[in-house]
Amino acid sequence: MSEALTTLLGKRTLRLLAHRAQGRPLPYSITFILTHRCNFACSYCDVPSAAGEEMSTGEYTSAIDELCEAGLARASFSGGEALLRRDAVSIIAHAKRRRLVTSLNTNAWLAERHLDDLARVLDVLVVSLDGPEREHDLARRQPGSYKRVVRVLERARAAGLKTATITVLTRDNLHVVDEVLDVSRRLGSFAYFQPAYLECFERDRGLQPELGARVLADVAERLASSKRRGLPVGASSAYIERLGRAPHFGRCERCNAGRYFATVMPDGTLVPCHLTSRARSWPNGRTMGFAAAFRSLGRPPSGDGCAISPYQEADLVFGGDLGAARDAFARFFGR
Ligand code: SF4
Repeated sequence: MSEALTTLLGKRTLRLLAHRAQGRPLPYSITFILTHRCNFACSYCDVPSAAGEEMSTGEYTSAIDELCEAGLARASFSGGEALLRRDAVSIIAHAKRRRLVTSLNTNAWLAERHLDDLARVLDVLVVSLDGPEREHDLARRQPGSYKRVVRVLERARAAGLKTATITVLTRDNLHVVDEVLDVSRRLGSFAYFQPAYLECFERDRGLQPELGARVLADVAERLASSKRRGLPVGASSAYIERLGRAPHFGRCERCNAGRYFATVMPDGTLVPCHLTSRARSWPNGRTMGFAAAFRSLGRPPSGDGCAISPYQEADLVFGGDLGAARDAFARFFGR
């Protein structure tokens, strides 16, 4: 049995189920944002403008240790571009030593040189892919980026890594769903899609204005049909259904963010998710401890939910949606 499977089926998941049964929160899945800095300036992203204080290597590894004792089973690492930090691989390696299921989101530009090391410490590599070459390089504002993404996905698969792509949909690439699915099928990846928000840290500002209800309902229909035809759509049926309800995806105050999953920002602030990070003042794990900070999160501020793919899949799984859990399992152990 693989180590990841042992983790997912083991004591930590039993602990999660016990906490859920009692309605008690548990930091089972945490996203660690290693930096807000980025080597790209993508057309739809304002994350780099938030770059500032970052925790040290030791502070990240201590946070992982502390959250492990509190119930952590899954650690994802993200940015900005997480690999801009020289210690990114060693922080992920620490999580793997703690027998966590690990994933990394990257734009792939710096990933190639780290692939052999990443293959030893990662379960899943998630690469941004915003369309075929023209659309991708335009959105990324980086000629050559598409070619590197494809190369990294090929090499990662050859090194034994599970891979997925994530496509941020804007008015400029709404037509790329089929092409991205085709690339993913060819490269043995799963493809996720999510709409672009006006402000990355402020859900209340809403989606980019071109992404109206009808447009996203159409995307949802195309994803559902592609999924029925066996194409590698990463999204669960329940996520696709939520996407089709845009802009009223769900209710933030009922979301499992802050209850079973959360995000650690580079300065140590714990937030339910990055989209709610500016909605109020949140606790900082460096000052009060990460387990205590997680316990003090409470429910997210009220709102119409979101369509951020990893958050929504997590919300569905932790909410007990059996189809989403089955899909997550198949994605993880399938291709
Ligand atoms: S639905 Fe959940 S993950 Fe999405 S913005 Fe609301 S609280 Fe955050």
